[in-house]
Amino acid sequence: MSHFLYSSIGLAAGVCFILALKGLSKPKTARRGNIIGAIGATIATIVVFFYAQEGESLPLNNFGWIIGAIAVGVVIGVPAARKVQMTQMPQLVALFNGVGGGAAALVAIVEYLHLGEKANTAEVIATVFTVIVGCVSFSGSIITFLKLQELMTTRPVVFPGGRFVIAGTLAATLGAAVWVVIELGTNPLMILAALSLLFGVLFVLPVGGADVPIVISLLNAFTGLTVAASGYVLDSTLLIIAGTLVGASGTILTRLMAEAMGRSLFGTLFGAFTAKPQEASGAAEDRPVRSGSPDDVAILLNYARRVVIVPGFGLAVAQAQHTVRELADLMLAKGIDVAYGIHPVAGRMPGHMNVLLAEANVPYDQLAEMEEVNPTFGQTDVAIVIGANDVVNPAALTTPGCPIYGMPILEVSNAANIIFLKRSMRPGFAGIENELLYDPKTMLLFGDAKASLTKVVSALKNL
Ligand code: NDP
Repeated sequence: MSHFLYSSIGLAAGVCFILALKGLSKPKTARRGNIIGAIGATIATIVVFFYAQEGESLPLNNFGWIIGAIAVGVVIGVPAARKVQMTQMPQLVALFNGVGGGAAALVAIVEYLHLGEKANTAEVIATVFTVIVGCVSFSGSIITFLKLQELMTTRPVVFPGGRFVIAGTLAATLGAAVWVVIELGTNPLMILAALSLLFGVLFVLPVGGADVPIVISLLNAFTGLTVAASGYVLDSTLLIIAGTLVGASGTILTRLMAEAMGRSLFGTLFGAFTAKPQEASGAAEDRPVRSGSPDDVAILLNYARRVVIVPGFGLAVAQAQHTVRELADLMLAKGIDVAYGIHPVAGRMPGHMNVLLAEANVPYDQLAEMEEVNPTFGQTDVAIVIGANDVVNPAALTTPGCPIYGMPILEVSNAANIIFLKRSMRPGFAGIENELLYDPKTMLLFGDAKASLTKVVSALKNL
């Protein structure tokens, strides 16, 4: 295959990636966008098997190893992606993202060893960049995975002098980078990789659970930049295009998410070092709360004129999206004004609630974004909070230093009545007490969200 044909096919794959991003920006076209992206990735993978670089007779060496590696990837990746629960999707994204960054770093190291003394300064700088950012992305993503999978604490991990250790590791990493550029050698490169891996771990440990999504998005942008830099080292236009797209879109997503959570990026990453230590939650568990039965909830809903449903992570865990739609339809049939209040980070990934409710065919016009729904809580008779906690927790507005302080919330406390559907008094993802549970106008309906909603629906049908 000629270089021209190879580059043209690569360009076509690049166009597929751009069209994929465009499609993914709207729920209606997202599925098509995803398919176009997959076609682009398939073309990009296949084309390299047919293009031999100048002076080489075979398109690819180590053909057997490559096919073997692809087979291993398919055997692990396909069942993992098919079986994963929607609630575990962010962990999967974190893992895939991490191995992407790690792979780019390994490719850069191999290419560096391959080029040896022939490498020019620009190639060495691109290699150093790829190794640093790829390793940070790999080890950082592993920590975000462990946090999201709750295999380690979701609270910020800070230790005395932590910020100096982080600053020292960063300085040592940058020092090693300069050493690699000046001295060209395997040992300095390995030390650089080890320091970068350490920095990735230290960089993510202080981030609290509630801010993890922002970090995943940031690491994803890092991986994109790494891929673009390795594209430069490997002289691959396609990798440069794909990497730049991931880097740019990841950066925009990071900014949007930080805004949605009322955070500066710096505050997200290093806020734990300046925050006041939090009381362990659970201290207030002995305080009285008002709990009710499904019949009590049905009566409250039956006499309401306006109800706002606030879905959260627990709705996804309970897979109660169809039952909540049944409840909403029933209320609408009774002439009650119903809206769903959607917080941008409700659930465990951006757009989680939109995807979940779309699965139950909830009409888009019933979904109200946070900015739209907040001014209406004053005229709302009942806010029914289903498996949500952090996204309605007033501590985000009132308690400086708490892990979610500054995050805009759904202001359900302005509604005349609040109903919480949850299983226990356990806190939400950020691990902090929610004063709203003890509010006199709050009624708690304990139990799995799906079971509780089913009972409320049948009670409401009988009224
Ligand atoms: P939270 O994690 O704050 O609260 C979920 C609530 O659901 C808990 O109170 C839990 O209480 C309840 N619950 C769990 N399972 C069930 C069930 N089967 N039936 C009924 N209730 C259940 O969720 P939110 O949606 O309010 O907030 C999302 C949090 O996740 C935020 O802190 C956000 O920053 C973070 N996050 C968001 C991401 C995103 O991009 N959307 C990504 C990663 C993290 P109980 O155990 O008592 O039932």
